[in-house]
Amino acid sequence: MATDEPAIEFNFDNTYARSLVGFYTPWQGEKVPDPQMVRLNATLAKELGLDASALDGIVGAEIFSGSRAPEGADTLAQIYAGHQFGGFSPQLGDGRALLLGEVIDVDGNRRDIHLKGSGRTPFSRSGDGKAALGPILREYIIGEAMHALGIPTTRALAVVTTGEDIMRETWLPGAVLARVAASHIRVGTFQYFAARGELDKIKQLADYVIARHYPHLKKEENPYLSLLSTVCDTQASLIAKWMLVGFVHGVMNTDNMTISGETIDYGPCAFIDHYDPNALFSSIDGKGRYAYKNQPPMAHWNLTRFTETLLPLIDQDREQAVEKATAVLEEFPEIYGRYWLEGMRAKLGLTTKEEDDFALASDLLTAMEGQDIDYTNFFRNLADMTKNDEDPSYLKEWLPRWRKRCAKERISDAKRTATMNKVNPLYTPRNHLVEEALTAAASDRDYSKFERLMKVLEKPFTKRSSYERYTKPAPEDFGPYKTFCGT
Ligand code: AMP
Ligand code: MG
Repeated sequence: MATDEPAIEFNFDNTYARSLVGFYTPWQGEKVPDPQMVRLNATLAKELGLDASALDGIVGAEIFSGSRAPEGADTLAQIYAGHQFGGFSPQLGDGRALLLGEVIDVDGNRRDIHLKGSGRTPFSRSGDGKAALGPILREYIIGEAMHALGIPTTRALAVVTTGEDIMRETWLPGAVLARVAASHIRVGTFQYFAARGELDKIKQLADYVIARHYPHLKKEENPYLSLLSTVCDTQASLIAKWMLVGFVHGVMNTDNMTISGETIDYGPCAFIDHYDPNALFSSIDGKGRYAYKNQPPMAHWNLTRFTETLLPLIDQDREQAVEKATAVLEEFPEIYGRYWLEGMRAKLGLTTKEEDDFALASDLLTAMEGQDIDYTNFFRNLADMTKNDEDPSYLKEWLPRWRKRCAKERISDAKRTATMNKVNPLYTPRNHLVEEALTAAASDRDYSKFERLMKVLEKPFTKRSSYERYTKPAPEDFGPYKTFCGT
């Protein structure tokens, strides 16, 4: 490093590299011809204890493109396997990504810094190890929007263009995303070692996960069974949040399901515009395996695969292990349902619990199905529908029921509106807005729309009059919307 360059310090403490030898390959990022910082998430950088202004330039671009490893980094490609669309791939791994290391943030939390698009690794198979600017910006937008919506997710730290074009259906500008996560350990990480019968490695990984993410489980009678139920619980909570906000992940393969409970890998994902249980945006999911309504059962399916890897740890007696694990796993639908109902009550402005609330919530969705009504705006505007005038015909039966239910709560309309506005967003990354921002950025290198959209999405619950257009549904001629895998 030249002496006139600012010193860039990362508070690294790389436990994965240190204690999980055999779970990764040490690897370096590729040197790219012309790294340029497109966007540094200064707020997040500060959270990580980084000097945002020093990183927002060439040095940051070199580091976050993978061209230069900062002091204290242990760059490595993680190994994992995964069920992709139901079929098992015994070896996937970071084929175009690297873990830079773990930093302890200003609150004392351990967080991975990871690069996506940093070049080929031993796990690349036939891939080029690269990523295109469009999908990288997409992951930035959606991930940060999810965070602002209060949904656990990996975060986007920086986008860097590499100065080289990469070949997809056509030549596209190459880019790298630096992202931050509680960790990058996936269901597929466990599957890799389970498939090879490496029981000692599974135990080592499970112990690592418990120590890193769920240290309170160490003193449980059966920590591995408790790990299973905890992971089931965090996933149930996560998927409920997706469903409530209308998010479709699109590629819920087991290698894309984290053990920490964070949403990861934004590829062919999107937000629903109107309520449609079959909503599906991915161009690579013809059968609709990961359609909107299938997300809870698919999470359950993935957790069953996770369970299989833990069985030998849960009990040495196979039958006992299966019995114990099955009892935990079978609770998933009910736990999910509880989280969902809790979230629905909040969306409907209900602060107390009544027996009929589930029916009230699900009947609303049934009534919305097939209607040309904007999902986000419907919930945002519901608070204003307390008066009995001109109810839309599809809600003639439902609205009076909801009003009657609200009347049982001893709170003012104003208070209810205020609480509903805290959970029903005004601004979501609407598909046409995301496309508009990506097209301008990737085709014309005009980042103004992207920057503005990020400003809007930063505060999804706070109305700002200058952002009126961001609350409007897609124009008539937009769609049907299809997204492509982020490769
Ligand atoms: P994803 O669909 O991004 O979750 O990736 C699934 C698997 O394919 C992972 O093992 C990735 O590392 C790998 N992969 C995706 N794109 C590429 C690429 N362009 N080059 C090499 N490997 C890739
Ligand atoms: Mg993935």
